[in-house]
Amino acid sequence: MSNRSNNEEMVVTPWEVKGDIDYMKLIKQFGTQFITPELRKRLASYSNGEEHMFLRRGLYFSHRDLDWILDMYDKGNKFALYTGRGPSGKTHIGHLVAWHLTKFLQDIFDTELYFQITDDEKFLFKEHLGLDETIQLGYDNALDVIAIGFDPKKTYLIHDVRDIDLLYHTALRVAKKVTYSTVRAVFGFRNDSNIGQIFFPAIEAVPAFLPSLVHKRKVPVLIPSAIDQDPFWRVTRDIAHKLGFYKPAALQGMFLPGLLEGGKMSSSIEDSAIFTTDTPKAAKKKIMRAFTGGRVSVAEQRKLGGNPEICTVFQYFKYLFEPDDRKLEQIANECRSGARLCGECKLELADRVGKFLIEHQERREKAKDIIDEFSSDKIREKLRG
Ligand code: SF4
Repeated sequence: MSNRSNNEEMVVTPWEVKGDIDYMKLIKQFGTQFITPELRKRLASYSNGEEHMFLRRGLYFSHRDLDWILDMYDKGNKFALYTGRGPSGKTHIGHLVAWHLTKFLQDIFDTELYFQITDDEKFLFKEHLGLDETIQLGYDNALDVIAIGFDPKKTYLIHDVRDIDLLYHTALRVAKKVTYSTVRAVFGFRNDSNIGQIFFPAIEAVPAFLPSLVHKRKVPVLIPSAIDQDPFWRVTRDIAHKLGFYKPAALQGMFLPGLLEGGKMSSSIEDSAIFTTDTPKAAKKKIMRAFTGGRVSVAEQRKLGGNPEICTVFQYFKYLFEPDDRKLEQIANECRSGARLCGECKLELADRVGKFLIEHQERREKAKDIIDEFSSDKIREKLRG
């Protein structure tokens, strides 16, 4: 259970992911739980046995207290969802993975979603980004969030800088309970880390507690995200009880690999990612240059076959663009046997990605007209009520 090997040491933090990622090792290192087949089956039982593709195929593989949150739900204590986006650049397809799963969960459990846009974080952690830039990127990224199709009545977009009034009071309470030595150990802060970075985990903790403040009772919270965000939840969980809240539960996924060899997709490496605003033509160009598990020549490919396990093109089929398990297996078998060549395989993927981009971009345009329906003002009204 690992990403492609590139012989680089594994580094996974909320701000950096590189190297040969061993997900089982990460579970041990972070102290999370593997999602067992029994737990997957239980989760599927809430949607008439229909299992989300990301869970079925192991893209979401780790959790904290998922069984507990389902127990609470069964007892009538409905949970809220919390996820987010750090706006460091344009949205790419890899970002959509956690949001698709979050929408699936919102649909089957009919829950509220608190969606945090951490424009403050990206300003503090990305040397090259100005504050106005991250704020603007946050509004731009929000269009992609809305394009996923979340329920506007139950989804609140929280832009940290704009909505600090909703966050600061609780962030201070969190900050007082977390020592510098804890955040240094968890996040690796150093003497030259700026003081905004050191405070930031308190801001990221708040949406895990906001539903309890809004509803004036303890509300369980489930956080679907990629596993690199786990350090935040560790700190948040450590102090939750001290502030009178439940510990947030988490559902954690792998990273969709970048199109180039090694690592995850990156907003800052143009060719590593397909952005939601790319034209189908631009996306096709990137796919045609992607790293594959193919052989050096057509003759060798026909004779020896390719390796879908290390192929980025296959990973895109697996995680987003081929929902039918039998057809996916067929792609893998054709690849291994040499019946499928990389050129035609890439064209097939480019065609599906192109269609997806056209549809997503239409929804993204429409999102501009309904963005106010996702306003954090709904939280203010509830807090006042
Ligand atoms: Fe990857 Fe397709 Fe080539 Fe196989 S045939 S290595 S799946 S691009």
